[in-house]
Amino acid sequence: MDLAGVEKDIERVVVSEEDLQAKIKELALRIEKDYEGKDLLLIGVLKGAVMAMADLSRALARHVEMDWMAVSSYGSGTKSSGVVRILKDLDRDITRRNVLIVEDIVDSGLTLLWLIANLQSRGAASVEVLSILRKPDAAKVMVDVKYVGFEIPPDFVVGYGLDFDEKYRNLPFIAVLAKHMYV
Ligand code: 5GP
Repeated sequence: MDLAGVEKDIERVVVSEEDLQAKIKELALRIEKDYEGKDLLLIGVLKGAVMAMADLSRALARHVEMDWMAVSSYGSGTKSSGVVRILKDLDRDITRRNVLIVEDIVDSGLTLLWLIANLQSRGAASVEVLSILRKPDAAKVMVDVKYVGFEIPPDFVVGYGLDFDEKYRNLPFIAVLAKHMYV
């Protein structure tokens, strides 16, 4: 899907496709170094992290395993509820595994804070986080995101896995949704 099809729905592009792909490669190199000689289990948070998982895992020149979790987040509104519920759990045990959570975006950080604690309580050897995007509010909570793609303004964004009412996930870039779409 390209810009022409959604031009009227979006206000501006925040991160281009080129910048996203370059960042993924850069993060992959860091991860390869940091996890040299160790096993690595990528845990993608559905559905937003699908694109990041697909690109990151292919950029990694090493073995990785992938698993998925789905937790409740925004529904069809645009504000975090703070209520976290597991909609789909992991398929495998993560005891003694080196886990890297792959997230689309950290906003309030509430979801992530809960997820890190949850995975640590299952006996993982390590739990780190990669998030493609981070909003400024995320700095207010004590959540350590080791690999951050881009710091973005506090606007509601769509694309590269992020949706509004299940649409726009397949945009190859990140864009601010036009206010008239949801106000
Ligand atoms: P948090 O708990 O950090 O406030 O929010 C976590 C989840 O809210 C993200 O994984 C994502 O699903 C959703 N979210 C936060 N900000 C945005 C945004 O700007 N756009 C979209 N589409 N979802 C968002």
